Amino acid sequence: MTTPPAPQPGIMEIALYQGGASEIAGQSDPLKLSSNENPFGPSPAAVAAMAGVLGEAHRYPSTDHAALRAAIARVEGMDPDRIICGVGSDEVLHLLCQAYAGPGTEVMHTEHGFAMYRISALAAGATPVEVPERDRTVDVDALLERAGPLTRLVFIANPANPTATLLESGALVRLADGLPDGCLLVLDGAYAEFAEGYDAGLALVESRANVVMTRTFSKAYGLGGLRVGYGYAPRAVIDVLNRIRGPFNLSGLALAGAEAAVRDRDWVAECLRVNAAERARLAGGLRQLGIACDDSHANFVLARFADEADAVAADAHLKAAGIIVRHPKGYGFPEALRITVGRPEDNDRVLAALGSFRGAA
Ligand SMILES: *Cc1c(COP(=O)(O)O)cnc(C)c1O
Repeated sequence: MTTPPAPQPGIMEIALYQGGASEIAGQSDPLKLSSNENPFGPSPAAVAAMAGVLGEAHRYPSTDHAALRAAIARVEGMDPDRIICGVGSDEVLHLLCQAYAGPGTEVMHTEHGFAMYRISALAAGATPVEVPERDRTVDVDALLERAGPLTRLVFIANPANPTATLLESGALVRLADGLPDGCLLVLDGAYAEFAEGYDAGLALVESRANVVMTRTFSKAYGLGGLRVGYGYAPRAVIDVLNRIRGPFNLSGLALAGAEAAVRDRDWVAECLRVNAAERARLAGGLRQLGIACDDSHANFVLARFADEADAVAADAHLKAAGIIVRHPKGYGFPEALRITVGRPEDNDRVLAALGSFRGAA
């Protein structure tokens, strides 16, 4: 018997990504508030555009994504030549690690940061380095202190997941300008649309050689199942990433849906308007029940209970009411539940269920 090769170093250290649950045993139609999806679904224009291209499935898609990049650039005020589209923003994060990190180098992320940063770093053979946060917020000083000659990438999500906190622009400038040479700052803007007045880091990308932004159609645009995201970066970085990107990474269906979605400004504006009102109402309702919660800059809230046992009991109570939320224990919050902001009637159900939990407790 000959043996197969061993995988590359780092790969067996990867713990599989845990997505938000979508089922409750014995419940046929649960309310899913575990994955920060848009509760209103995709724009009807995006659905129609996708239906319109189904008969073209025998054709290979565009390799340069020119039409989608042009549509994004027009709406966001970007240079289309500095956009790279990926299979979700996850693919862009992965390409960044593959291109810039590897054995003997470090990839930094923060204590409560998104799981994909560590996974992509390990997949590239690099060493993930976790830096503490302060009061559930990215700590710029801690990052600057830890960054060194081996650091190639620093990943932060702004607004962050699962905390929903936001770093203001002065802190981002300080971080970008304080990092050592040879290190890229990656601003993961998966929730940037939800943060009022935040440019997602656009001005920083435009004015610096060491800043990259990632964005996605999975959250505000309600297209998590379609898998489309993009990066906005200095031209030199785009040139590097395009060399390792699969030529047909995005399907024709995905390109058509995303392009129509980004053009439908009214749909996304209405979703953002409802989200902003509802997240404030949800956070206020939680606080009235004695459940601590920071102001959210995203489409979810992090509800903090007395301790882990209290959070687990609340989770079970919500499940019994047919509601699925996320217990972010693996993100360093055993005492919390992350609750996606739903439609107004969904949020009523959450508050009613937690009210009865508190009443029963
Ligand atoms: C949801 C999410 C993403 C988006 O991933 P996609 O691959 O674009 O679906 C990226 N970063 C964070 C922090 C997220 O929560």
